[in-house]
Amino acid sequence: MDLSSFGFFSSLRSDRSGQSFAVIGLGRFGRAVCSTLTKQGYDVLAVDSDELKVSQALLDRVVAHAIVVDSTQVVALKEAGILEQETVIVAIGNFIQESIITTLNVKEGGVPNVVAKASSEIHETLLRKVGADHVIFPEHEAGCNLALSLTKPGILDRLDLDADNSIVEIVVPEKFHGKTIAELQLRSRYGLNMLAYSQNGKFNVNPDPNTALMKGNAIVVIGTNKDIDRLPI
Ligand code: ATP
Repeated sequence: MDLSSFGFFSSLRSDRSGQSFAVIGLGRFGRAVCSTLTKQGYDVLAVDSDELKVSQALLDRVVAHAIVVDSTQVVALKEAGILEQETVIVAIGNFIQESIITTLNVKEGGVPNVVAKASSEIHETLLRKVGADHVIFPEHEAGCNLALSLTKPGILDRLDLDADNSIVEIVVPEKFHGKTIAELQLRSRYGLNMLAYSQNGKFNVNPDPNTALMKGNAIVVIGTNKDIDRLPI
């Protein structure tokens, strides 16, 4: 089965080509963010205080624009054009003081969406206090995703709405094959609502209840994590 035709959440995000991004810090995490955004066609501005990191990123073509900037200096951030970006990713995990000052500078400079990488819980708390809109723990999230992909291989994509509720994209379970959406009674049997059905790589939002589900395709459902866990996947 070609899972590359799926990707409900990325299809929702695909109309955001006008978004502008800057990445501060070109460690392994920052470089991965840069190269993925660049491959998706976004124009990314990357900065690092270390000249070697900047030249290496340009040499490796992980990003088209990279300059040397000390992000603890507001003037330098302004001159580099960082404060004009819609989304700034503060990818400085191991230098807590620099990460906090940078996040404060970027937020106070008026950037609407600031995503910051944390290396510990106290780091996360501090980042939130200085205004980070999203804080991520890549190592923690990678560990959780690995465990889920090993135990629930039928889940193709997942959007956690909060600690208890999620939207998930799943492969149509064997048990659902040939049944219509109405016959499945997802709401009364599982407490879940179906948002979309994917056929031949195209999502049909609000599918007809008489549609018969076929294995190899995917469905997108919303519900509590407990109910999602009850699905036969
Ligand atoms: P790893 O590379 O181990 O995955 P990481 O991606 O979190 O970790 P860090 O070790 O935190 O990377 O470093 C991120 C980058 O941030 C480094 O390249 C470092 O030079 C850069 N950096 C640190 N302080 C500043 C600063 N004040 N301004 C700009 N860049 C900085």
